[in-house]
Amino acid sequence: MGDDMKILVLNAGSSSLKYQLMDSNTEDVLAQGLIERIGLKGKAAHSWTIDGKKTKEELALADHEESLQAAIKALSSKDGGVIQSLEDISAVGHRVVHGGEYFSESVAIDEDVLKKLDEVSPLAPLHNPAAVSCIRASRTLMPDITQVAAFDTAYHQSIPPEAHHYPLPHELYEKYKVRRYGFHGNSHRYVAQRASELVGVPLRDLKIVSCHLGNGASIAAIKNGVSVDTSMGFTPLEGLMMGTRTGSIDPAIVTFLMREENLSPDELDNLMNKKSGLLGVSGISSDLRDVLDAQESGDEAAKLANDMYAYCIKRFIGQYMAVLGGLDVIVMTAGVGENSPVMRAAALSGLEHWGIAVDPWRNFDQDKPPIKNGLEGEFEVSAVGSRVKVLVIPTNEELMIARDTKALL
Ligand code: ADP
Repeated sequence: MGDDMKILVLNAGSSSLKYQLMDSNTEDVLAQGLIERIGLKGKAAHSWTIDGKKTKEELALADHEESLQAAIKALSSKDGGVIQSLEDISAVGHRVVHGGEYFSESVAIDEDVLKKLDEVSPLAPLHNPAAVSCIRASRTLMPDITQVAAFDTAYHQSIPPEAHHYPLPHELYEKYKVRRYGFHGNSHRYVAQRASELVGVPLRDLKIVSCHLGNGASIAAIKNGVSVDTSMGFTPLEGLMMGTRTGSIDPAIVTFLMREENLSPDELDNLMNKKSGLLGVSGISSDLRDVLDAQESGDEAAKLANDMYAYCIKRFIGQYMAVLGGLDVIVMTAGVGENSPVMRAAALSGLEHWGIAVDPWRNFDQDKPPIKNGLEGEFEVSAVGSRVKVLVIPTNEELMIARDTKALL
């Protein structure tokens, strides 16, 4: 096997586990899988793909440790597995949502790191405990190899104080660390790097606005290769209107609704996180495809939802051009950014004055010649002569995590 190195990337949710096994030299994905409904009464669903071959199983899995064992069993199965035994895994990279103020880059996990992760758990009560339980399980199963934590928040730790503090009494920052953290850091970092490679200009000389538009959505302003502002804040609720989340609203609406509708903090939390956004406004779906289809068939509420979604993106792009003092590249990524020419066109319309011109043909026709040195799915949608380049770049958070893990070996 020689210097052939396999890195396992794990992304644990409260009842799910996503995994990828990557050859860290070629950066090929050797296998990937998803386990859902962990610990729930029904059976867990495990599906994985190796060599293009998809397999599915249903089984009872109590926790992340049992799930990880199921994943490893699939990876090492006699017929069509990709490893012989656990020894073939050189290192593990874990996606961790929140690193608080402790981590501005990925780290090799030791007891001290685990202690800090427990400490910041109240900041991400739904996400961090799952990651920590997965890390513990993974360390139990593979005690002798390096395990790395890669944080969604880390990349945004460079955001300066005037942009990361909220105008609340300062003692609340001291007491609870209430501040902007930002999320999707590995995605923004990855696409910024790719953008630099594609335009052939070093990151340190670029002003980039990166739009990660998935179910959760955030925009980052990136200058000299570092994040200087981002739309998500203390939690992933702030900023853009999303599939089911409000994004930023007047904070007084929160207290108003609590009083008028007699809602508890948890109920309001649920309303703003799960029932708002595209879903709430359209009354149809959180999936942009459905809402765009409904608009096509003349649905007024759907049109409003889509218009609001696009407007929000445009507003942030404008803000960040001011923050950056100019702009060289806009990147569109994640489900909506990669796949919706309609939303890209709407969000970027009317910005010609600032040197942003989208070419409708490039934007809509996916069969165009690929961008020079581009990977699959990467293409340019800006018009010839547009001062700002607009690039579509499929995100790859797992690759970022695998690279960080390799670098820490
Ligand atoms: P997640 O944040 O869960 O990783 P994704 O990045 O996969 O989500 O984005 C999912 C969203 O992308 C879907 O909810 C859907 O609205 C949107 N999407 C995917 N494909 C298209 C498409 N062809 N047109 C419009 N929207 C799309």
